[in-house]
Amino acid sequence: MSETKLREDICRFGRSLFERGLTPGSSGNISVRLDDGGWLVTPTNASLGFLDPAKMSRLDGNGRLVSGDAPTKEVPLHTALYQTRTSAGAVVHLHSTHSVALSMLPEIDPRAVLPAMTAYYVMKCGQTALVPYYRPGDPAVADAIRGLAGKYSSVLLANHGPVVSGDTLEAAVFATEELEETAKLYLLLRGLNPRYLSPEQIKDLTKVFGLTLPEHEHQETVIASWSGRPTDAEVEAAALILDRAGRHHHWWPESDEPYEEFAKTDPIAKSEFEGIVEQMLLAAAKAKPR
Ligand SMILES: [Zn+2]
Repeated sequence: MSETKLREDICRFGRSLFERGLTPGSSGNISVRLDDGGWLVTPTNASLGFLDPAKMSRLDGNGRLVSGDAPTKEVPLHTALYQTRTSAGAVVHLHSTHSVALSMLPEIDPRAVLPAMTAYYVMKCGQTALVPYYRPGDPAVADAIRGLAGKYSSVLLANHGPVVSGDTLEAAVFATEELEETAKLYLLLRGLNPRYLSPEQIKDLTKVFGLTLPEHEHQETVIASWSGRPTDAEVEAAALILDRAGRHHHWWPESDEPYEEFAKTDPIAKSEFEGIVEQMLLAAAKAKPR
């Protein structure tokens, strides 16, 4: 595809995303990999709704600005995905409301922020990983994305927004939209005990459409086996197993109170805490060497 056409496409998709309220103000950025190893990137402080094809930042293979306006400060998010996903031809980053909201929920699994709710989510996004919160511009966020080793085409930055790669610009845009719509569905159904796709249905999709999902058994399949309240000893044992496995768990609450004390005094926090502990026990069960 010619560079002229790509410049126009970035503007066209950018406007479409902006006009549908998928990224407000001057938030969000788009990049496309070029045949010569360089990139076209949306400029800093530019609204995706009002991009100019002639002002697009043109970077060389080393990320140096060759022409156009200065690039978005979020270039490192994009390069981290390109470096680890060699098939990526484009990256889209938005501050889309439902995805950002999802990133702040206590129960989400950092290796699968959404359950397999619809076939299209599985097909377009696979699984989405969560990267912890970092101050804007902190280079550590790119390291965190690289830490995922290219296993995820879609990544959600906590309290910030999604970063999604695709083989083409269109694929990256559509996957970002799918993630946003699925996050919206999740929020609509939260607490209503919805039926998600079964492991068999997911297996069928991966087989028929040749999908490669990261090794990860989603909590849905295991949660059914967990019932009742964990004892203090169970919580401690779970924490210990996770520590030994070197796995960081952001679910662990900032509380020194023993579980039983905590549970007695604060019924709302209790249900939230039970969800956290449940996740922890499940993760520990999976981390445990067999
Ligand atoms: Zn951002």
